[in-house]
Amino acid sequence: MTSNQKIALITGGSRGLGKEMALRVAQKGLDVIITYLSKADEAQEVVQQVEAMGQKAAALQLNVGESNSFDAFFAQLSTILKGHFNTDKIDFLVNNAGIGVHASFAETTEEQFDTLLNIHFKGAFFMAQKALPLLNDGGGIINISTGLARFSFPGYAAYASMKGAVETLTKYQAKELGARGIRVNVVAPGAIETDFGGGAVRDNEALNAMVAGTTALGRVGLPEDIGGVVAFLCSDDARWINAQRIEVSGGMML
Ligand code: NDP
Repeated sequence: MTSNQKIALITGGSRGLGKEMALRVAQKGLDVIITYLSKADEAQEVVQQVEAMGQKAAALQLNVGESNSFDAFFAQLSTILKGHFNTDKIDFLVNNAGIGVHASFAETTEEQFDTLLNIHFKGAFFMAQKALPLLNDGGGIINISTGLARFSFPGYAAYASMKGAVETLTKYQAKELGARGIRVNVVAPGAIETDFGGGAVRDNEALNAMVAGTTALGRVGLPEDIGGVVAFLCSDDARWINAQRIEVSGGMML
């Protein structure tokens, strides 16, 4: 089964940045499969919004922190691809799903460390590895990192270290997958107003003002600032961009 219609799989597409990515990718004419952890209703709303734009869409449940569930997930994905999208391959994987844990280096527990490791690094590593048989040659992987891997704010030692690992992984993936024409890039958002980390960047006025004050463009980021960049990377216009870290932060902490 082959099809010219491109499909993007976006983890954590029910809310926040992933939702915006799904909508902007659909605007570019791709079909979209999103995953969610627990918010099935929100995920279905995103599916309906994508369908209203004339593209096919589906939502699947997935915990990216449980890599032992990935084989079952990809088996389910194969079934959905054949049944709903009339193909057996996807073109892009966006490793976006994630959580924030705020803890100083001194106070980070092993449990917090393992949770962040499993979701942000092991999850991204094995999602991509296990996606390889389903990924079309000429497609791409986009790993979502953070500005915090370039600059440091107290309280993000473990979180940002996992994202730093993902950035290194990206280069190795680009090197090894280039033979298949698969491009692998990082998008590193600055602080964005979403539910992430309890919605602190959005709801904590002092934090919001501090971020705006350290950003050249003078405000905090919005989900709409990120989605279009991921959509661009899923387009042919980005065909020569490979192994790059694109920070999308309005010029934060220059
Ligand atoms: P949100 O909290 O708004 O959304 C998180 C999304 O990830 C939801 O779709 C959620 O599903 C899903 N999710 C959470 N945990 C898991 C899990 N264990 N397995 C699978 N899915 C999960 O976060 P953002 O949109 O802000 O963040 C998205 C990505 O962007 C993350 O990787 C984050 O690290 C990164 N980032 C965010 C920044 C920010 O300031 N917001 C800045 C830089 C990077 P459900 O809705 O079902 O709960």
